[in-house]
Amino acid sequence: MSQSAAPFRTLGFHPSLAVSLDFSTPVQYVKGVGPKRAEELAAKGIQTAGDLLYYAPFRYEDRSNLKPVNRLAPGETATVIATVVRVQAPRFRRRDLGMIEAIFTDGSRMPLAARWFHAQYLANLLQPGVRAALYGKVEFDTYQGGLIMLHPEFEILRGDEEDEDAGLHTGRIVPVYEAAGKVSTRVFRNVLYRLTSALDDAPDPLPESVRRRMRLPELAESLRCLHFPPQETDLRLLNAFRTPAQTRLIFEEFFWLQAGLALKRDAERSAAGISFQLTDRVREQIKKMLPFKPTAAQKRVLGEIARDMAAPSPMHRLLQGDVGSGKTIIAAQAAVIAVENGYQAAILAPTEILATQHYLNFRKIFEPLRYNIVLLLGSLTKKEKELNKRAVSTGFAHIVIGTHALIEEDVAFAHLGLVIIDEQHRFGVLQRKALQQKGVSPDVLVMTATPIPRTLALTVYGDLDLSVIDELPPGRKPIRTIHKTRHEIEQVYSFLLREIRAGRQAYIVYPAIEENEATALKAAEAAYRELTQHVFPDLRIGLLHGRLSAEEKDRVMDAFKRGELQILVSTTVIEVGVDVPNATVMVIENAERFGLAQLHQLRGRVGRGAAQSYCILVTDKLSEAAQERIRTLVESGDGFAISEMDLKLRGPGEFLGTRQSGLPVFRIGNLIRDHDILEAARREALDFAAHPPSKEEFERAMRYVREHWQRRYGLALVG
Ligand code: ADP
Ligand code: MG
Repeated sequence: MSQSAAPFRTLGFHPSLAVSLDFSTPVQYVKGVGPKRAEELAAKGIQTAGDLLYYAPFRYEDRSNLKPVNRLAPGETATVIATVVRVQAPRFRRRDLGMIEAIFTDGSRMPLAARWFHAQYLANLLQPGVRAALYGKVEFDTYQGGLIMLHPEFEILRGDEEDEDAGLHTGRIVPVYEAAGKVSTRVFRNVLYRLTSALDDAPDPLPESVRRRMRLPELAESLRCLHFPPQETDLRLLNAFRTPAQTRLIFEEFFWLQAGLALKRDAERSAAGISFQLTDRVREQIKKMLPFKPTAAQKRVLGEIARDMAAPSPMHRLLQGDVGSGKTIIAAQAAVIAVENGYQAAILAPTEILATQHYLNFRKIFEPLRYNIVLLLGSLTKKEKELNKRAVSTGFAHIVIGTHALIEEDVAFAHLGLVIIDEQHRFGVLQRKALQQKGVSPDVLVMTATPIPRTLALTVYGDLDLSVIDELPPGRKPIRTIHKTRHEIEQVYSFLLREIRAGRQAYIVYPAIEENEATALKAAEAAYRELTQHVFPDLRIGLLHGRLSAEEKDRVMDAFKRGELQILVSTTVIEVGVDVPNATVMVIENAERFGLAQLHQLRGRVGRGAAQSYCILVTDKLSEAAQERIRTLVESGDGFAISEMDLKLRGPGEFLGTRQSGLPVFRIGNLIRDHDILEAARREALDFAAHPPSKEEFERAMRYVREHWQRRYGLALVG
């Protein structure tokens, strides 16, 4: 370890601490922790003294200036410090085991009740005379009169031998921590109080020039204020995480992430790649293949891709565009560049159905060029697989389309030059790497079917260059989206009939319940019978689902494409890739069961021709969240706005939907709350990397990244 790296690792503590500590000291040696608690902390990712210092409170309470109970109003959320008078079973429902009610008083002569369900264990804690801080919403108790808090958070303030400094927990602005197993908020407060008090003003890892320009406070000061804000601090600012100290720590977290991503980009781009030639022949072939005139956005994006491919370093690009914006043809053009240069292109899809769709699409697109296209799926027979693999390894196949099977099995490419990943939020970074290694640093293009909110694009895909198709092909009319309840299904059917009489076609889609295709299949089959026998006995209706063989699927899809079928009843297998411009109605049954992104994808199956299209969302019972989703969809057709809302409603982890999604672990930063700080941190990190104020400062920062990045964000810095 070099000398100059040391200060950051050993951010110092005041010698008054019994044991000498630095940020990397195992947390068990921090006073008040010990081996048992260290184990509980480890489960939260807190392994060192530094981790503990960065463990931010999730909320702050001002316990210096509390309202007495008799001045509380129903509806307000408040902190109350009061003493238990008695604990009782609620009078109105004596036999309801597990419910516990405590009556508190704070000397203002007005009692406050607090009620918890399934919480018998509280009876031991809440003995008469125990003082506690309660935090929750105050309500009028409609059963017994008076004021009540239902399920308040609470913290017992006395009766713990460790509470040597009682002044820590009341009479001031108090940090509230998420408990880690048996390590309660109070323990965190005690331990962190000691730790932050002993924290020296040691060197700050954040580059001085950046810190000054952004006017951010220094590290030690920020950590002290994070945990124990000075009394004059604005409570609202604190709870919005926007005090200078909090801002600095959030900024720092994002800054190092972005610095690491910049480092990774540089490393990847300095590898030797393929320099594809953009000859006249390539241009002619593209022209020959193109079924239409590309939009300005498509031209721009293709230009970006072509430039990357011509460059000697490997391409790492993310292509974003709303459903129907025309990404397929962009992928096809990139493939032409690779194939005309004598290389193979691989296209990776998240599901077999999607891979098959791509296969059918590309076979049609490349007909004029006579490319050999091979589909590799896990479900093929052994013989088929062998045959196809040989086509790939001998170089006979120009274009290879497949699922995970492409990377998991021993598929050898003759000369892989381009990898296109249709990602759909389902692939992790690891898989990307695995496929890349099949070629000599092939160019990589990642396409997403659902737009990714910018904050996520900057973090999860921060090492990729970004291309956006922000324009729909000409002649598209916005789709009208309508919400109907199950009771109104007759209206939906008569509308459907009118459209079909006018020569159009329609989809009716059934959801999978809890990811279970079988339930969707049953619903779709039942509906199919009902529709063909009773509702529309005169219409030609087809049924499509995942259990059909590839040929059967093809046959149904072809019949629908040719207009022989007027209605297609389906499970969500049609979510992506189906393209029938004459279909103008999309009916989504039990729309409350779909996620926003999926609904938007399904809706994107219509509105592909010149006629006005409609999406009808039919719902049963609506939860509040489902209502919000339906409203968002009815009000907006913009995929980017919808995915921003989706991110807000579900949070980043759910939004990305996989553990391997490459989502970094943040300790203080919050992608939704702090997107403005993320933007600033990215700008500063890129700027710092491009124009470092001095070589020393740059090298010091990069060393810090190398030493901390992987552990801190759970991401791999180098492949
Ligand atoms: P995406 O994959 O982005 O959802 P597609 O590539 O499937 O979208 O394109 C949607 C539809 O628009 C397809 O029918 C495609 O042929 C058509 N399309 C794409 N680009 C154009 C264009 N420039 N002009 C006319 N039609 C286009
Ligand atoms: Mg290249």
